[in-house]
Amino acid sequence: MVLSELAVRLNCAEYKNWVKAGHCLLLLRSCLQGFVGREVLSFHRSLLAETPGLGPRATCRGGSRCSPRARQFQPQCQVCAEWKREILRHHVHRNADVHWGNCRPGRWPSDAWEVAKAFMPRGLTDKRGPEECDAVALLSFINSCDHFVVDRKKVIEVIKCRNELMHSSEMKVSSTWLLDFQMKIQTFLNEFKNIPEIVEVYSRIEQLLISDWTVHIPEGDQPDGCESEVGSYLSVSQVNEIEMELLKEKLQELYLLAEAQEVPPEEISSRLEVVKEFLRNNEDLKNGLTEDIQKLDSFHLKHETLDSKEPGGQTPESKA
Ligand SMILES: [Zn+2]
Repeated sequence: MVLSELAVRLNCAEYKNWVKAGHCLLLLRSCLQGFVGREVLSFHRSLLAETPGLGPRATCRGGSRCSPRARQFQPQCQVCAEWKREILRHHVHRNADVHWGNCRPGRWPSDAWEVAKAFMPRGLTDKRGPEECDAVALLSFINSCDHFVVDRKKVIEVIKCRNELMHSSEMKVSSTWLLDFQMKIQTFLNEFKNIPEIVEVYSRIEQLLISDWTVHIPEGDQPDGCESEVGSYLSVSQVNEIEMELLKEKLQELYLLAEAQEVPPEEISSRLEVVKEFLRNNEDLKNGLTEDIQKLDSFHLKHETLDSKEPGGQTPESKA
């Protein structure tokens, strides 16, 4: 029964902390989406004001040859070369990795969002706007682009916490961790005192973190249409939705890690196994995640077959 599985999960304080922290990130995402959406347009306008030749009338002449891959981009036409230079000029981490593979350079003259993705982590090629991005993508843009005037240390602290949360193999964090996270996220939000929708989220996060989240299981049958509540803050289905989003993000993260081959395959499969074990005990979450698990399984299988075909396939190949 759905309700009792949730009750058992939320009885574990550390899992509850994990979900609460994840909920903070979702709130953060929702308040940053509008802000980033507006700022990316103003950033693009300011780039075109500095260099009018890069505007909508500029056309990439390189065609498919102007296609970046992962961190590599060798522009084959004048327009893309100039755009690349401009992007790097505004990139705070211009000497580190830039994930050019996120972008379709031919669209830079007319599509501000394609420019923004050069300031974000890998894996965002298909995302068409801030509304399709998670918190870390938006935070990375704010952190990496000099259009944003913020204390970058505060942004980085939130990104670090987010990564710890997503990489927590057991999906648990301590109450001390949660408190520290709250402090960091609110310090970050304080940088945006003149943005009303961000200020509003500040108090919602406060309210969320002090709320109890005890699941009340009603005695006897529940009348139809009566929605159970978690504490007095969220409904059961809302908590389920949050859990699902977090687990999806976690699996997506694992997929990107596997794809980039930065972590040994055994490590990936052992992390995946923990999630699978968790889902075996929590059938109510399992159905919504079948596709994500399959995607990882088949990726793993494909690479296992490739490895076993080559002699010495056990040693990871150097990255091309
Ligand atoms: Zn080009």
